[in-house]
Amino acid sequence: MKPTTEPAPRGVLFKWRSILPISERTPMITLGEGDTPLVRSEQLAKLCGLDELWFKLESCNPTGSFKDRGMVVAVAKALEAGATAVLCASTGNTSASAAAYAARCGLSCFVLVPQGRVAAGKLAQAIAFGATIVEVEGSFDEALRAARELTAKHDIALVNSVNPHRLEGQKTAAFEICEALGGAPDILAIPVGNAGNITAYWRGFCECVERGYATSRPKMFGFQAAGAAPLVLGHPVSQPQTVATAIRIGNPASWQGAIRARDESGGRIEAVSDEEILEAYELLARKEGIFVEPASAASVAGLLHLARQGELRGGRAVAVLTGNGLKDPETARTRYQPRVLRAPATLEGVERALRL
Ligand SMILES: *Cc1c(COP(=O)(O)O)cnc(C)c1O
Repeated sequence: MKPTTEPAPRGVLFKWRSILPISERTPMITLGEGDTPLVRSEQLAKLCGLDELWFKLESCNPTGSFKDRGMVVAVAKALEAGATAVLCASTGNTSASAAAYAARCGLSCFVLVPQGRVAAGKLAQAIAFGATIVEVEGSFDEALRAARELTAKHDIALVNSVNPHRLEGQKTAAFEICEALGGAPDILAIPVGNAGNITAYWRGFCECVERGYATSRPKMFGFQAAGAAPLVLGHPVSQPQTVATAIRIGNPASWQGAIRARDESGGRIEAVSDEEILEAYELLARKEGIFVEPASAASVAGLLHLARQGELRGGRAVAVLTGNGLKDPETARTRYQPRVLRAPATLEGVERALRL
């Protein structure tokens, strides 16, 4: 056989073709999304009262969040249908992902973001990928309503998680977890904003059992920020507030999906305060070497919260770390109030500064 130097194709469409709604005509696009690391906790497992805690590093996707898993399917299907433009409302990560795949595939991309509430790194990505950005004078929920109306009226594909292809792509993370662990964990801890991801994971775990990747399903533990916790309160929140901008959402589009995931799995959806989120954010960085954005820390904050109430007793949990800490440098600067030492550029100078 002729040796080949071309690496095997990677990505969600290639790896998970058999469980995705793709046909002969679907373009097999990829930016190398999916197949993210599952890393075992060294220190936080004990603090959480768990035998095993694993982190699913969705921050390792090409644009730094799990959104790429669903976006690759949504954009492939839009291309298949002949679209020339995509549009989304976004707290930041959806726009970064949509803009990347649109650039890759030669599509125009329009993103609607809530004014002044998008983390700097995410906006930088959308700008770099050449998206047309509209800051709307309102919340994410209002931007999403406008996005739905615009795409109903104009010939532009909507790539928010209300697009069913997004959730199909996102469910592949559950398959990866079952494949890596040889079955499902006891608990899946996940931040909840628009509630698409918890819906997608639950669908994924159910299909894992049907397809023989697992013999059980995890309890789904969803965590919202206390200032943006409509699913916990049982009603929409008109002015959601939280440091975790990716989950600053007052009226989740996949509300019913989240409730079903909770109830069918025997799980729970709880609120964690911003202080708890930032404590987990710091613990992940300082005790595990993992830098996430605040929304992602909500999954670990939730486990710590339940552990303090004596509600976690052993077992194996997976916490989904949804996005990269580099997305939101401002929160890191405010949280840590960095003290940077100054010194002359000499051995003695640096020794003196370090008191060595
Ligand atoms: C989108 C996002 C979430 C929330 O996911 P939903 O599907 O909206 O519940 C959480 N964390 C990060 C980093 C995100 O980008």
